Amino acid sequence: MTAMTNYLRSLMLVELFQGLAVTWRHMLQPKVTLNYPEEKTPKSNRFRGLHALRRYPNGEERCIACKLCEAVCPALAITIDSEQRDDGTRRTTRYDIDLFKCIYCGFCEESCPVDSIVETDFHEYHFENRGENIVNKQQLLALGDRFEASIAAARRQDAAYR
Ligand code: SF4
Ligand code: SF4
Repeated sequence: MTAMTNYLRSLMLVELFQGLAVTWRHMLQPKVTLNYPEEKTPKSNRFRGLHALRRYPNGEERCIACKLCEAVCPALAITIDSEQRDDGTRRTTRYDIDLFKCIYCGFCEESCPVDSIVETDFHEYHFENRGENIVNKQQLLALGDRFEASIAAARRQDAAYR
């Protein structure tokens, strides 16, 4: 009996029409897909994208070379060298992040006592040449300068939960 039923169903193209019914049902409904990159979805203020090093409003870099971010990074993606300045403060002489190693976990950001290393909401980047995956201190500071407004806004929105 089951074989006969299946034979009749296939003869009458029942499954084909069932599939078409789904297509027709959704044809006139609003589309859920976006035309990226012209259209974009909203991003969380906790989005973890490209890294940046921040400065204080007076232009001084925040990082005090405590190396907590380097120690906590599970992917060993951060490399820091440091030295003491003439004024007694300690600053990095080298701050590299290997973006091929990075797993964008955000631990570096969480560990930083001065809110220096952060992950921005910028994720539309690529590399064209060997070695570009390693971003250095100057590049990270430049990214911080470029995205400071959005970084600060995201921190303000999330302040109650940090
Ligand atoms: S986001 Fe995670 S993996 Fe990437 S540098 Fe920071 S701590 Fe390391
Ligand atoms: S970025 Fe923050 S955690 Fe990392 S060395 Fe600088 S001050 Fe320390």
